[in-house]
Amino acid sequence: TVLADQIAAGEVVERPASVVKELAENAVDAHATQVDILVVEAGVRSIRVIDDGDGIATDEVRTAFKRHATSKITSREDLFRVSSLGFRGEALPSIASVADVTLTTSTGASGTTVHYRGGKLLQQTPAALRQGTDVTVTDLFFNTPARLKYLKSAQTELANIVDVVDRLALSYPAVAFRLVHNQKELLRTAGRGDLQQVIAGIYGVQNARKMVAVDGNDPDFTLKGFVALPELTRASRQYITLLINGRAIKNQQLTKAVIAGYGSKLMVGRYPLAVLDLRMDPLLVDVNVHPTKREVRLSKESALAKLISTTIRDRLANVNL
Ligand code: ADP
Ligand code: MG
Repeated sequence: TVLADQIAAGEVVERPASVVKELAENAVDAHATQVDILVVEAGVRSIRVIDDGDGIATDEVRTAFKRHATSKITSREDLFRVSSLGFRGEALPSIASVADVTLTTSTGASGTTVHYRGGKLLQQTPAALRQGTDVTVTDLFFNTPARLKYLKSAQTELANIVDVVDRLALSYPAVAFRLVHNQKELLRTAGRGDLQQVIAGIYGVQNARKMVAVDGNDPDFTLKGFVALPELTRASRQYITLLINGRAIKNQQLTKAVIAGYGSKLMVGRYPLAVLDLRMDPLLVDVNVHPTKREVRLSKESALAKLISTTIRDRLANVNL
């Protein structure tokens, strides 16, 4: 029902950045190589995400807007082996329940456009589109005024959007992302699979030069990435990006492990810039903790923390030689 969708939307769609995250993640899940994200007025006016992914078959589009309709999990088993970014089947119905959504999609053969508003399908028409999906969301929270009121300044909402796209770009160096705000290009990645190049695009070429590659593994984990030299610091730990099996996550203990790797090399209140790509058996990760999937539960968290801090410590010790 529309009401159930709106309740789910309360958890999944907090702000414009949540819409950007869900739509862009769907594009990545659909194997897109190019994802264009166009936002107007920090996403409050409109959010458009265009991808060249698999597309949705015409006769499945309406199902995609039904709750818990996901094409990504087919069995209970899969729930414990989640490899796609989405799997709850909540994003599209949630967004459509609190906004105006026009989605055009094509699997290559034929295309279709659906127009939803406040959870209701207003129109479905045939459409011509090369393979991929093009979604536009406007009038976000038009029917939930409390949500609208709760939004922060345009500057803060835009910062959240930039953060979401940065993290996704860092997670998927092989996908070319473009973020445009009010016609101005804020980010463009090449999609050549080069993490260092993505880092340079986001944090600047100068900063990227002050980062060193790290590489470590133990029987359960592999770790690859880049960490800043101790001289390059930030006032917030927000610049520590942790990716687990391609998903940007939040985890206190692992963040602390990154900082611990620097020992006494950091000034008080300063934090390193770091991007760590951590890979492990999906069975060691439980992503089904929160609807936004940012927080994960890990078995063997302490062992992973140890690998992180020792890998960074050993690498930084080598730099000074
Ligand atoms: P989930 O991602 O959890 O499966 P969503 O509500 O985000 O749920 O999407 C529902 C379904 O719609 C997806 O499982 C997928 O089949 C389809 N879908 C959504 N966006 C896209 C896209 N950009 N390209 C191809 N398929 C899509
Ligand atoms: Mg999704």
